[in-house]
Amino acid sequence: MLDEFIHEPRIAYFSMEIALRNEIPTYSGGLGVLAGDTVRSSADLELPLVAVTLVSRAGYFRQEIDAQGRQVEHPEYWDPSRFATRLSAGIAMRIEGREVWVSGWLYILQGHMNGRVPVILLDTDLPLNHDDDRKITHYLYGGDAAYRLKQEIVLGIGGARMLQALGFEIRQYHMNEGHSALLVIELLRRYAYPPEDVRPGESPYDIPRVRELCNFTTHTPVEAGHDKFPYDMVQRVLGDFISLPTLKTLAGSENLNMTSLALSLSEYVNGVAKSHAEVSKKLYPGYRVHAVTNGVHPFTWSHPAFIKLYDTHLPGWCHEPAVLVRADRIPDAAIWETHTQAKNDLIERVKKLTGVELHPKIPILGFARRMTAYKRPDLLFADLARLKTIAQERSFQIVLAGKAHPRDEGGKRLIEALHGHIHELADTIRIVYLPNYDMETALAMVSGSDVWLNTPLRPMEASGTSGMKAAFNGVPQLSVLDGWWVEGCIEGVTGWAIGNAMESANGEDQDSLYIKLAQVVLPLYYMDRPAWIAVMKGAICKSASFFNSHRMMRRYATEAYIR
Ligand SMILES: *Cc1c(COP(=O)(O)O)cnc(C)c1O
Repeated sequence: MLDEFIHEPRIAYFSMEIALRNEIPTYSGGLGVLAGDTVRSSADLELPLVAVTLVSRAGYFRQEIDAQGRQVEHPEYWDPSRFATRLSAGIAMRIEGREVWVSGWLYILQGHMNGRVPVILLDTDLPLNHDDDRKITHYLYGGDAAYRLKQEIVLGIGGARMLQALGFEIRQYHMNEGHSALLVIELLRRYAYPPEDVRPGESPYDIPRVRELCNFTTHTPVEAGHDKFPYDMVQRVLGDFISLPTLKTLAGSENLNMTSLALSLSEYVNGVAKSHAEVSKKLYPGYRVHAVTNGVHPFTWSHPAFIKLYDTHLPGWCHEPAVLVRADRIPDAAIWETHTQAKNDLIERVKKLTGVELHPKIPILGFARRMTAYKRPDLLFADLARLKTIAQERSFQIVLAGKAHPRDEGGKRLIEALHGHIHELADTIRIVYLPNYDMETALAMVSGSDVWLNTPLRPMEASGTSGMKAAFNGVPQLSVLDGWWVEGCIEGVTGWAIGNAMESANGEDQDSLYIKLAQVVLPLYYMDRPAWIAVMKGAICKSASFFNSHRMMRRYATEAYIR
């Protein structure tokens, strides 16, 4: 079954979450979608990659919104045997002193040309395991810190062992965020010097060799966002897998910091946008942090009508998205007609899900992402009277969506507050909140909106990717200058900036947002259609042609994987 994949050395790509397809709920948001796009572009470009993740049988969660506008969470069980094949290999490891067996599923991701990338989904739900251990690979980002540590042991250590057991020869390892960093410990043990060659007091580990093998992409621009585990917990769960003094040298003296561990043993380290690389250098001084700005997968994030349009006018765009720089030659009428199809699809979906009928001639502002404080989904609603006045002059409609992590109380309160605003504004602005934001809803929203809105608190948005998806559908972004938008925004050409690039102040950003909306965006939409379409084309030509995952993977290939 694996013969076609093990005949050549591969890049092993480790990620806690991967969005493989809409029916497989093994992702929570941007990180997982990026991992999915990484694998999809690798398949299209025929890069020899193998991806490793957890099977997450209970998914992240399915979101329901109750009558009070509160999020209700349901487990979202899926059956791996519907999409993947069980592998015969199994490996064992010690967790909390018990033997835990790990098996794997093979999912094959088929590219648009001939490429195929194997994805290994790790699974501890085996009858020979203790009941508690069977659930280690069930809940994506569920449970307490000890549960998370166990998951990360299975992902990093179990994943590396599984690849070996399956016969993969790995030329490079790539850790997508710190969750899989324990893999470096497995590699240190694997490549340790024979005891007779180690002089007393010297380290038995071949650190330079492991460093040569490892690459690390960090995604989190704030210290608090990095996974850390107290060493007493690590010792209880992991036992004497590696000596504590060694671990402290590599991963921090106070806690096991997964980012520090990955940084200590990775030859190539990168942030996910230029500004994020700079922030990461300040968080972890002394490391060389490259910047590989994220991208999105061209085919996955283009509405079928746009796929058809590009196929007609710009053949080959799917393999070489850079040809989209020529999209300005597509007739205006064709761009508008294609956008209208995407917009009608969104309007239909909104009606089906909420019963609300949006108007096809009124611009739709789209806002969807993880609901959490730094994303500031409430910024647009900070001054309801002002928002009303703007809407009375030139009307617009709003489509919202997003999940809050089950333990993010602030995020959940934001969802409730948004529903309050929807209610308060009901007689002036049509606003809907689509439940259970997933890949399918995301595509419908990024393609069917007229303006994509993003209002994070700088510098918290490492990259952000939904605005790139919008660009593939000719939807310009109105966004705070953070993450990728620092590089992508050309004012009035690819979209518009909120605030300035230096400071993020709630009041200033809010004021700037209202001014841009009332004085620039809405007047252009209503009063100068050709100029509006020029901005749509600017988003395609200048953003989509560049901020795609093919370009991103070509950079990883030439700068990180081949060295
Ligand atoms: C793209 C995507 C995200 C990430 O969007 P950001 O703009 O980076 O926050 C989250 N969830 C889903 C379902 C997505 O498709």
